[in-house]
Amino acid sequence: MKKYDEIIKKEVFVCNCCGEQIAAVDESDRAAFLDVRKAWGYFSKWDGCIHHFHICEKCYEKMIQSWLYPPDVAEQTELM
Ligand SMILES: [Zn+2]
Repeated sequence: MKKYDEIIKKEVFVCNCCGEQIAAVDESDRAAFLDVRKAWGYFSKWDGCIHHFHICEKCYEKMIQSWLYPPDVAEQTELM
C-alpha cells in the first residue's frame, strides 16, 4: 500500500503483510518487493473488484515457503 510519510515528506510503499516501509515511491525502482494488481472476474468471490497490494521481500520469502509448489523461476536476460 502507499502512505504518506510525515518525516521524509514523501509517499512510500508499505508492506501490506508486515507493515514495514519498503521504499519511497520515487525511489522504488531500486527496491525489491512484490507489486500485485489483480482484477477479479466473473465467478470469483470478488467479482468486479481490483485488489492491489505490496509485499516486502521478507514476507514474499515466507509466503512462498508455505506453498506446496514453489513459483517457477527463470533467469532475466535483460536487467531493468
Ligand atoms: Zn512484509
